Parts: sequence; C-alpha cells; structure tokens
Amino acid sequence: MIDKSAVARALREIGLYLELKGENRFRARAYETGARVVEELREELGTLVDEERLTSVPGIGPALAATIAEIWSTGRSQQLERLQKELPPGVLELAEVPGLGLKKIQQLWTALGIDGVDALKRACAAGRLGEVKGFGAKTQQKILDGIERWERRDERVRLVDAIDDAEAISAHLAAHPACKRVELAGSLRRWRETVSDADLLVASDDPAAVIKRLINYARVTRVVDHDERRALVRLSNGLHVELHVVPEAGFATALVRLTGSPAHVARLEAIARDKGGSLDVPARDEREVYARLGLAYVAPELREDRGEIEAALDGTLPEDLVTLADIRGMTHCHTVYSDGKATIEEMARAAEAMGMEYITITDHSPAAHYAGGVTLDRLKQQWDEIARVQEQVKVRLLRGTESDILEDGALDYPDAVLEKLDVVIASIHSRMKMDEAAMTRRLVNAMRQPVFKIWGHALGRLIMRRDPFACRVEEVLDAVAESRAAIEINGDPYRLDLAPEHAQAARARGIKFVISTDAHSIGNLSNLRFGVHTARRGWIRRGEVLNALSADEFARAVRPAS
Ligand SMILES: [Zn+2]
Ligand SMILES: [Zn+2]
Repeated sequence: MIDKSAVARALREIGLYLELKGENRFRARAYETGARVVEELREELGTLVDEERLTSVPGIGPALAATIAEIWSTGRSQQLERLQKELPPGVLELAEVPGLGLKKIQQLWTALGIDGVDALKRACAAGRLGEVKGFGAKTQQKILDGIERWERRDERVRLVDAIDDAEAISAHLAAHPACKRVELAGSLRRWRETVSDADLLVASDDPAAVIKRLINYARVTRVVDHDERRALVRLSNGLHVELHVVPEAGFATALVRLTGSPAHVARLEAIARDKGGSLDVPARDEREVYARLGLAYVAPELREDRGEIEAALDGTLPEDLVTLADIRGMTHCHTVYSDGKATIEEMARAAEAMGMEYITITDHSPAAHYAGGVTLDRLKQQWDEIARVQEQVKVRLLRGTESDILEDGALDYPDAVLEKLDVVIASIHSRMKMDEAAMTRRLVNAMRQPVFKIWGHALGRLIMRRDPFACRVEEVLDAVAESRAAIEINGDPYRLDLAPEHAQAARARGIKFVISTDAHSIGNLSNLRFGVHTARRGWIRRGEVLNALSADEFARAVRPAS
C-alpha cells in the first residue's frame, strides 16, 4: 500500500532529476513544492484523489495532480521511470559530491559504469579516472577532494540554509503521537552563523516509531547511520540531520548536553563532579539543571564558554537579553528608490502587519550608484512620497538613508541634507580591501562625523564568502563610544554583523545598538529574528537596543542633527 510519504518522495525525485537535467527550474521546483504540500496535507490523500479534488489544494496544478493520482493508484510514475532510464543510476547521490555535475556523472557512467560514490572511490583508487576524456590530473584531484568533503560531511552551511529544514522536520516529528517533546539543539539552537548539521532532540517512549517517522520524511535521500535511539540522515539539499531520542525524564539534561558547545558542557560536567554529582540527574527543565549546579539559567545563545559560566556563578549574567517581542521598529529598510523590491507603502504596510510601531526608510546614497543610490532630487521626491504614505498607514515612517562611508571616512550627502533626515545609517560598500591602518582611520573618522549615525553591517563580512574588514576594532569602538553613534546588528542572514565577540566589546563601552533587517523586500523583514538572536549571542540587553524604544524615543535617540 502506497502512502503519502512515498508519493512525496517520488515527486521530489522527479523534481531532482528535472533540476539535474537543467530543465526549467520552475518546473523542477513545482515538484518539490508538490512534495511538501502532499506531506503536509490535512485531508486524506486517497479521498482527494478519489473525488478528483487534488487541484483544489494550493500548490497542486493539473499536471502535478495527474502525477500524484497515478502514483497513488498504480504505485508508479511513468515520468519518473523515464527519467530514471535517461539518467545514470546513482546520479542523485553522485550529484551531492561537490564539483560533480551531470555532464561529468554521465561521462563516468558511460565510460566506467560508475553508479554511485562507492564505485567512484574504487575507480579513483585504481587510477581509472584518467581513462575518461577530459578527466586530467586537476579534475581527478578535485573529485577526490569532493568525495572527501562529502564523506567527512564537514561542510558547514549557513544557519539560514539549515534552519527552515530543521524547523519543518521538527514540526513533522511533533505531529506524531509518539513524540512528546521536540526541540532543535546543537549549534542551530545557539544560532551560530554556520552549522555542520541540524541536531534534533525528541522525548519519546517509542524511539523506533520516531526514527521511522524521520526516515520516511520525503526529503531524506540517505540514511547515513541509525541505531535504537539515534539516526543520522541526509536531506536532498545535502544537509545532515541528527536525531536523538530520549525518555521524557532525561529530556532536560539531554537538551543541555546537546545544545552547549563542547567547552560549555565540559565546564558543567566539571562543576557537577566538584559537587560530587552528575550532570545527568533527571530534571523538570533546563533551568533546574543549571540551578542544581548553583548557576543562573544560561540562554542557549550564550552557551559557548565565553564567560557565561563565571557570570552565571556570580549572578552577573544578564537576564533581560533582548527578545523578538521587544523590537518596536523596523530599521534599515530599502525600497524601489534604490535596490529594494517593494515600494515605500508596501514596506510600511508589511512592517505594520508585523506589529511594528515605526519603520526607517533608508535607501542607498548616491555613491552606491551600482545599487541605484538616491540622488538629491529623488531624495526630495521620496520625502513627498513618505508624507503621502504616512497619511494612509498607522506605522510611523522615518526618513533616512544608508549613507556610504566614503574613502576618507566622510559620509555621502552634505551634512545639511543628513541633518534633515530622521535617521542615518552609515555603511561601507566600496574600497573594502584597504590595509588595517587606513581602514581604521577611515572608520574612526566616519564615527566622528558630527551627525548621529548608526554604523551599518559594521565589519562588512559575508558569511562563508568575505572576511571582516581588516581594522583595529577596539580603536573604532572607542571612537563610537566617544561620538554620536550606535552600532547595527544586521539581521541579513548572510551578514549577521557585528559578530558576538565584538558586540560584547561594544557593550562594555556602553555603546547602544540597533537591530536591523537590511530588508530589500517584504520577505526580508523576517530577517529580524536572525538579528535578535545574533544580538543575544553578543549578550545584548533590551535596554541597550534603540529600536526597542517607542517611536518618539527612538527618533530622539538617533536624530542626526545635534
Ligand atoms: Zn549596506
Ligand atoms: Zn542596506
């Protein structure tokens, strides 16, 4: 008997094959979406098929409906079988190896009959790859490296590329009656900017059922390993998910163990030992686990052994870390005036719908011409439009700019213009490779400019793509503390800048923060959660966040004119 997950799995396989073949991406994606929709159906799939109502489900068009009905009633899909025949066996697995595309996989299959990673490894070891045309020494080495990375699964992925999947799986598991509690754990729960895999912890008396539920999840393409209480699987996008199942009584301690960094957990173990006990005594919740050790509760984002244990012992750990609910204003938002996708009104309405009391419209300044920086004329036009939109919406619109920090540290737009704005974000977008001394000078000079400014995506890093600027951070932070300035925690999941260790150094100087989305679309407004958790990783408290203030207080605090 075929079930929902089998149908979803077949759809997903079709989508993956189509994508590999380089077919229209939208068509390939439609199958992926279809698979997700089928998985999450509330109604019985059989009923929908029998009553020919599949197309009434959002996300399922006529073509997809026909495929679903075919799989449901025959257990097969002609399209899938055709694709399987066209493409080499093992192609889905091989395509996960970094550096191997469809063309190479096809060549390897035709020439050497390679039908999976194991066969590829054997061929490499026997030195047979060189027999294939175009597989020179360089390509062979690349493939070997790719296999090694694939096997060690040590490729870290950005938080943003793991968290949606992890949350979807968590919901998938939670919907099963055998799951009493489900939590994300590991570096994902600490909101690290990159993670090596997604850890999930489940409380259950029936681990076999929970593990089966995970393995049957349609996006699982490979079960790497599993035993009675643990399973490691790989998803179609390469992400590894590690599931741990424990009895309910052991859930809190297991969650503490699985969440903290190894160093943090080792410190807890040492404290427990010193007290003549163990970390693994059952507890009601995590708070109790910490309390028993004589520690204040440590929020997951802080569990890195970067001073939190000492602070939890002597009672100096901040209890009022900023939360998502504290944020009252959406800062650093782009619109169609520069390189954003939505209009001022659309952004304003979206922010309002999220419960925000204000939004800052901060498009790029003219120096950022590649991003459609706003010239003076257009800036005045924008003010008019802001005034018009303001009459239509409740959320308060603040006129701002993301002004480029120029090469010498001056800000773009004349001071007289900047002073007419409600808020100025100052960011570097060009000449990022200056040496340390020059960059430090540039930033210090920028911070000392007379207008109040919020230092945007401070060190310019792009996670896994671009390192932070070379500069003497402490010196720049000193300048921020002495000047009319605050620092942004940028929630763009590719930036997450300022990094926590520098945020802590800034806090120590009494510097204030703004938690921003850097939204270039309505969808980007949900970057806010990344910003908030990054701020928490830097121990930032509610009272240190300017956009946790009311609109009036915020406007007063960041007013560019002195
Ligand atoms: Zn920017
Ligand atoms: Zn921006």
